[in-house]
Amino acid sequence: MHEVTDSRAAREWSRAARARGQLVGFVPTMGFLHEGHLRLVDHARTQCDVVAMSIFVNPLQFGPHEDFSRYPRDLARDRSLAESRGVDCLFVPGQRDVYPREPLVKVSPGSLAAHLCGPFRPGHFEGVLTVVAKLFHLVEPWVAGFGRKDVQQACMIRRMVQDLDFPIEILVSPTVREPDGLAMSSRNAYLSSSERAAAPLLARALDAVHRSYRGGKRDAAELLATSRAMIAEEPAFKLEYLEAVDQEELAPVDTLGDDTIIAVAARLGKTRLID
Ligand code: AMP
Repeated sequence: MHEVTDSRAAREWSRAARARGQLVGFVPTMGFLHEGHLRLVDHARTQCDVVAMSIFVNPLQFGPHEDFSRYPRDLARDRSLAESRGVDCLFVPGQRDVYPREPLVKVSPGSLAAHLCGPFRPGHFEGVLTVVAKLFHLVEPWVAGFGRKDVQQACMIRRMVQDLDFPIEILVSPTVREPDGLAMSSRNAYLSSSERAAAPLLARALDAVHRSYRGGKRDAAELLATSRAMIAEEPAFKLEYLEAVDQEELAPVDTLGDDTIIAVAARLGKTRLID
């Protein structure tokens, strides 16, 4: 595995691959890798010849009271997981390499941040889109892979490449879960053992909506209320939202359809979980 730490070297690696006729796939991450990240590598590889992964904890997407400084980091472990999964180039830029000065021009998600996580994390998605746009320019991939676990982010990135004409195909992979249903996340490392035991309730609450939908129910208010009540029974959870939105505008819907997104965010102690 090739490893680069500055933007020029990342671009050189990618351009050399393209000059050899290889299609480049790209998986941006914040590290502390788990199987969810590694499946994105597998998925990207089905569409291209070589895969680059970036590891960068992006300060621009953290609010002033969020977990930027304590976000879990373990580069040695990440390096070995990435290498054993066949990542061809690991790009680990430093803060100054990505932000030599404060960016004044940023990418705005517009009304796509009006619902779900947007109101709870002001500025977060602007930080995400800005860093992803920068990484896309540095790596110049053919395809880039994102996870459905962060569904609002994946929808925004799809929309960004359409609206701003990035010549990149976006792949979105299914959420990878622990055996008890909890969506894998680097932030699960924060959970105490009692919190970890309670955490799969979020996935069960989403499952309950799916089951009722498969059983023929379509009324969003009714199904969401049932699942919100399930979460309310576990006092350790502080629900931020459980919503049904359409996948284009990410705006709430009254009636569920096959492509409705059901998304949830809740705090469990100091940890914010989404699914
Ligand atoms: P992060 O390192 O949390 O920024 O995540 C990097 C990428 O991995 C994003 O596209 C996430 O959506 C994706 N991802 C994180 N967790 C999972 C998961 N459990 N299943 C699938 N993709 C995931």
